[in-house]
Amino acid sequence: GHAPLSQILFAQGFGARRECDGLILNGLVKVDGAVVDDPDAAFPEDRLALEIEGQPWVTHVKALVMLHKPAGYECSLKPGAWPGVHNLLPVALRRRGLQPVGRLDQDTTGLLLMTDDGPLLHKLTSPKHHVPKVYEVTCKHPVSDGQLQQLMAGVVLDDDPSPVKADAAERVDAIGETHLRLTLVQGKYHQVKRMVAAVSNRVEALHRSSVGQLELPADLAPGQWRWVEDPAVVLPP
Ligand code: URA
Repeated sequence: GHAPLSQILFAQGFGARRECDGLILNGLVKVDGAVVDDPDAAFPEDRLALEIEGQPWVTHVKALVMLHKPAGYECSLKPGAWPGVHNLLPVALRRRGLQPVGRLDQDTTGLLLMTDDGPLLHKLTSPKHHVPKVYEVTCKHPVSDGQLQQLMAGVVLDDDPSPVKADAAERVDAIGETHLRLTLVQGKYHQVKRMVAAVSNRVEALHRSSVGQLELPADLAPGQWRWVEDPAVVLPP
């Protein structure tokens, strides 16, 4: 629907209502390229092309973003030893309280989704959400055929008697005997590291390259984020 411009800015995370009014009254907000200085002027709430203090911003009533997580950041909402991934988002999105969709370990890099859409978060993190996730794994020891077969057949982790298995496991030859590409549909705590440990190898570096049909774009540098315009790419078919 439509809403007053000031309310739209507020909902997007640009500060308290009063601050949003101030930005607009001071001529610092453009809509479709033209200054609008009336805080009560009504506009469509979603996909509105704004410019705020010279910065372009397309409104998203609900945010779903992808982040290229660098090492050294925690997915926890109350980070301890390491900065939280929220610090990588612009301040407007930080105010909106986006939550990570699942967790990547502090030392894991790659594709992380974040959203402020509660029902979507619930859907994406439910155990029934069987969307394949691809991990590039650098192992300490060369990966044997036996280890690959075990990962595919299923290994038992310490917290659960039912075995977990990879949907696909392959050596990536160009990179070497120690490089593995694993596809998982679950997301148990430290799953890749524990599965690899269970076959007597060890994860030295871990990178998530895709979730569902969404691949980490090659031009999204570590620490950068981007909108995911259509959640269908990370939902089951
Ligand atoms: N599996 C892990 O062990 N760590 C991650 O960060 C993701 C999957």
